[in-house]
Amino acid sequence: MNDTIVGIDLGTTNSEVAVVRDGRVQLVEVEGEYLMPSAVGLDDSGDLLVGEAARNQHALHPERTIRSIKRRMGEDVKIPLGERSYTPQELSAVILARLKQAAESQLGEPVQQAVITVPAYFSDAQRQATRDAGQLAGLEVARIINEPTAAALAYEGGQGERHHSLVYDLGGGTFDVSVVRMESEVVEVLASHGDNHLGGDDFDALILDQLRAHLKEAHGLDPVDDPRAMARLGRAAEAAKVELSRGPIARIEEAYLLDGRDGPINLALELTRADYEAMIEPLVEQTLEAVRTALEGAGLTVAELDEIVLVGGATRTPLIQRRLEELLGLQPRSELDPDLCVAMGAAIQGGVIGGQRIAGMLVDVTPYTFGTSAIAELDGERYPYCFIPVIRKNTPIPVTRSEAFFTSYDGQEAIDVRVYQGEDPDALNNTQIGSFRIEGLSDVPAGNVIITTFSLDVDGILHVSSVEKLTGLQKEITIDSAAARFEREEMGAARERVQALIDSDAQAPEAPATAGAPPSAELIQRAERLLETATPEDREDLVDAIEALRDAEDQGDTEAIRRAGDTLSDLVFYLES
Ligand code: AMP
Repeated sequence: MNDTIVGIDLGTTNSEVAVVRDGRVQLVEVEGEYLMPSAVGLDDSGDLLVGEAARNQHALHPERTIRSIKRRMGEDVKIPLGERSYTPQELSAVILARLKQAAESQLGEPVQQAVITVPAYFSDAQRQATRDAGQLAGLEVARIINEPTAAALAYEGGQGERHHSLVYDLGGGTFDVSVVRMESEVVEVLASHGDNHLGGDDFDALILDQLRAHLKEAHGLDPVDDPRAMARLGRAAEAAKVELSRGPIARIEEAYLLDGRDGPINLALELTRADYEAMIEPLVEQTLEAVRTALEGAGLTVAELDEIVLVGGATRTPLIQRRLEELLGLQPRSELDPDLCVAMGAAIQGGVIGGQRIAGMLVDVTPYTFGTSAIAELDGERYPYCFIPVIRKNTPIPVTRSEAFFTSYDGQEAIDVRVYQGEDPDALNNTQIGSFRIEGLSDVPAGNVIITTFSLDVDGILHVSSVEKLTGLQKEITIDSAAARFEREEMGAARERVQALIDSDAQAPEAPATAGAPPSAELIQRAERLLETATPEDREDLVDAIEALRDAEDQGDTEAIRRAGDTLSDLVFYLES
């Protein structure tokens, strides 16, 4: 028998298989995808369908398609499929056999052993049924391990140092949270808690309710009795949800959705992330309650947690990541694909049993947080340079994320977009790595929406663009090697300081005045350079004076510009000398 031991995540909705090769985890593709739907069915002629094909026929032929068989594991039942009936372990075996086959064809050798994962709450009977399913599929089950254990292993690779992980797993229809302790290769689930009927699909359902309410209000029609329209709305709701994980607004458009009294009805609607988050907040709060219970159950305080690991597709929701960070004071880890890390951890366990040395996971992540600044509340006060992170550190790259910003007064015609790298809530304590001004905005009341998008590629090149939503007016900037630039910026600042010293030489001939640049723009730039080194009190004075000058300029009040300019220039003179 060869000693390859694959790792299998046998999931309710999807299943995955991975293996360790040369110390590294390799995922196995099944029909070109890493996720294989956990579905089994029979086609028109009674032939077996597994995975994608079976899932696709479910809507049309539910009588000969089986999904979510995992929910029945351990029950003493027979489930009819076509002419015959099968036990849950037999149906699971069909899924496992397909995964085994895919691994064999990718590896080019037979696979006889597997580590299979199960939820931490699975009873002995459910674990035994999973073991039996493996055997029926021709696999020797080297070990059954808990899903949270596998996820923690995927992140730590069995390094052996003692630490505690909180594994937060939110899939399509189930939620589990577990506290895991790792110590010298022994991994133990200290507490586990969850809800078998809570998941990302409930978020879709809330959006769907909103779409139905909109159709009722705008057209007096409820699509509930039209299965085709409901299916389209369901898909649109899920797509909008996924879109809102990346950007601030999702546009939902479904042409010819229903037949109305006066012709076909087209649905066109925008959903903002803020509205969506308000909708799902109670569900997210419910999961946080479970997190508290699991911590209590493990007898741990928040401070004793070393990391939070995210599992399940729905954990890509930004609100979930934010709330967990607020509650636990740690940025959740999401470098690994939350749909695949359980299979990766199972493969690592297989590798360890097979005596392989496991190298760390290779993922390209950004080492810094990148963001911009805006007027918001900082320590309970309105402050113009609040740091708004757009791409958080440790996010896998390449990545694109957007945020919405709003003009702050009527008729505001320009916005300065500053790009920072750092972690401090006060943008001025971070490093500014670029900026641009978007001018010529529409003459509309305050609240004009500007969407700013950050894209960071694998070479560390950051592209930032801002678009006025109303007109598409756009301005952008590309910052080469955003991470390396930090040092160059520092060099630049040093060079400027030396230059300033030379300029202040009283005997030097007077430099010609710079032509073209408006005097206040130059003054503001000088003032902003000082912000980084100023004491907190001086900084506050500077910020107030800069804002006063900008306001005066925006309002075109010459007298106010002169007064504010004088104040700022006095301050700059005092601080530069
Ligand atoms: P899983 O069962 O782990 O595959 O999770 C599936 C759930 O994750 C479904 O409800 C998906 O709609 C949801 N999901 C997948 N991608 C995203 C995303 N980018 N943002 C929010 N939810 C997502």
